[in-house]
Amino acid sequence: MPITVVPHPVSLGWSDFSPVRALSNNEDAHIDPGYEVENRPIRKVGSHWMLAETLELRVHPRARVLRSASQTDELLAHEQGHYDIGILAARALARDLATIGAATPAALKHALDAAFDLHTRTRLGPIQQAYDHDTNHSRNAQEQQRWARLIAAALASTSATAINNLTL
Ligand SMILES: [Zn+2]
Repeated sequence: MPITVVPHPVSLGWSDFSPVRALSNNEDAHIDPGYEVENRPIRKVGSHWMLAETLELRVHPRARVLRSASQTDELLAHEQGHYDIGILAARALARDLATIGAATPAALKHALDAAFDLHTRTRLGPIQQAYDHDTNHSRNAQEQQRWARLIAAALASTSATAINNLTL
């Protein structure tokens, strides 16, 4: 794979979470995956500019937990689900980034930014919302198990393009 998704860490612990006094949306903890492309020179392929052939797309958790929340295994597993969904989004993004070419470096940057926006906001937002809605933020154990199976299956596949019928 020319652009490799590298999550760090792969598995979350409570030490990865910053304690906060308040969170929105009736949540006890929250994760926003962060994404960063390894900084390497772009290259010219024929008449087009592209990213370097081999690159790392790094994913890290920006994670917060309510000071008043119980740091349970169940809640941590739920947050790991959000993070894993973010990793799946990164894999879909990486596949796009590897194919994007543009006539100028500025046009390349514009196209890369659009791909980031598509995969890490436009598509990722509704998936994270569906996960929270279905699982009631981890409180619905049956739905939590169903999503855990979907996420595990998608992670095990190298080519997942959707989860719960939502496009990555
Ligand atoms: Zn949640």
